[in-house]
Amino acid sequence: MQERLQKIISRAGVASRRAAEKMIADGRVQVDGQVVTELGAKYDVSSADIRVDGRRLAAPERHVYFLLNKPKGFLSTVHDERGRRTVLDLLPDVRERIYPVGRLDNNTEGALLLTNDGALMNGLLHPRYEIEKTYIARVSGDLDEASLDRLRRGIRLEDGMTAPAKVRMLEQNLGMSRVAIAIHEGRNRQVRRMFAAIGCEVRALKRVEFAGLTLAGIKRGKYRPLTPEECRNLY
Ligand code: URA
Repeated sequence: MQERLQKIISRAGVASRRAAEKMIADGRVQVDGQVVTELGAKYDVSSADIRVDGRRLAAPERHVYFLLNKPKGFLSTVHDERGRRTVLDLLPDVRERIYPVGRLDNNTEGALLLTNDGALMNGLLHPRYEIEKTYIARVSGDLDEASLDRLRRGIRLEDGMTAPAKVRMLEQNLGMSRVAIAIHEGRNRQVRRMFAAIGCEVRALKRVEFAGLTLAGIKRGKYRPLTPEECRNLY
């Protein structure tokens, strides 16, 4: 794909777009051995030899996207000072520097997206984009329609009211309930705290859907790359 030279240089992390334009105008940039001072010139980064002050640009890292079915007992970080297991231990063959998009608690399982695409990551985590996440919670305590309605309308937590949620009772038996809850915020331990606020304890929590991506076909502890179409839909 051909791109403007200043964009290629700024994406390689050498300088801002504006500073890259100045570098070009100042004659500091060479493409395939020739100085280029024209700002609109376009090149294919994968085939052109682009140098700034004689130093070749590093190839931009390819963006990769994986959906992991996280089991309990793995931290949603890339490193733990206490040496506990992290989700990266579950993707040993991935060589790119990927990060989880948001977090699941150590004892929560389910859908977790990992990528090295920082722009996508920031977009998905920003509340403005209202990415929907659906959880199945196994909950103890009395749960009636009135308390489910409180969750649906929004509930006061220490860090403010929660936004309206979609809540559906799936099963109820001997003081235990299975509830599907879809939220689009991502506060710390939000689902557990929402249930605690109505007097219930979450005994097990699984995220079954994230931004339209489900766990279909991914066994616990396994992952798969997203398809190009799934990636496009996330943008
Ligand atoms: N809400 C929680 O309480 N825990 C999670 O891991 C995710 C959402």
